[in-house]
Amino acid sequence: MIVDAHTHIFPPEVLEQRERFWDGEPAFAAIYRDPAARMVTAEGLVEAMDQDGVDVSWALGFPWVQESHARLHNDYLAGAQEASGGRLRCLACVHPPADWALAEAERALGMGVKGLGELAFYDSDLEVTSLAPLCDLCAEAGVPLLLHTNEPVGHRYPGKSPMTLASLYRLIRNHPQTKLVLAHMAGGLFFYALLKKEVGQALANVWIDTAAAPFLYRPRAYGLAVELLGADKVLLGSDYPLLKVSRYRRELASPEAGLDPDSLALVMGEAAQGLIP
Ligand SMILES: [Zn+2]
Repeated sequence: MIVDAHTHIFPPEVLEQRERFWDGEPAFAAIYRDPAARMVTAEGLVEAMDQDGVDVSWALGFPWVQESHARLHNDYLAGAQEASGGRLRCLACVHPPADWALAEAERALGMGVKGLGELAFYDSDLEVTSLAPLCDLCAEAGVPLLLHTNEPVGHRYPGKSPMTLASLYRLIRNHPQTKLVLAHMAGGLFFYALLKKEVGQALANVWIDTAAAPFLYRPRAYGLAVELLGADKVLLGSDYPLLKVSRYRRELASPEAGLDPDSLALVMGEAAQGLIP
């Protein structure tokens, strides 16, 4: 069972005229103004899944600033999931500080989406306060909340936010009942599972995904994450169409990653399947 827990799909309207969606959407413009930043619809994603032997993908939304954009995208995600014959698990997205965020998240969950994601603060540190009601909603519904995180050090790239591990850790501590999936290797937070006190316990309900890791880390990082968190907590995520699953498969199965067959099977899909059956 191969599950890709981090992909992005957009409604055809957005693919056809992405420039129509730039105004008042600084994060969208920053990432997608570059014509090389690819976007796909659900059909495009399923085609790639078929080519790469992926059984199921989690398809994520975008944290649009404008409500009309969020509604358009979330409607599309719910419909795509419904039409996918079980191939897609869709996560709806909202802009956490917006006054409509909670209502829109509730509306999307009511349409059957399987969680929220990829929630993100691309221009600032994580807002622990505005994320709180969304974390509570996901905890009540028993569904995951997938959050963009990134390493607070190192080279810069589009979409890298000025987030801090301190805010991320505060969020985790405040919401022990919320199943949090931290994208992009959790910004390296997993290393602190080695601390003698508190952190290991705090990460009990936290998963991480590998999205974009081939651009960021040497493959040994996968092995270390599995060692420190457990293979059931590390999810294959491709960030497709940024990268294909085949690239991750090679790296995850490499001697440098050092994963045994059981761990590899968990990371490649069994762990994600447990989280969203
Ligand atoms: Zn991300």
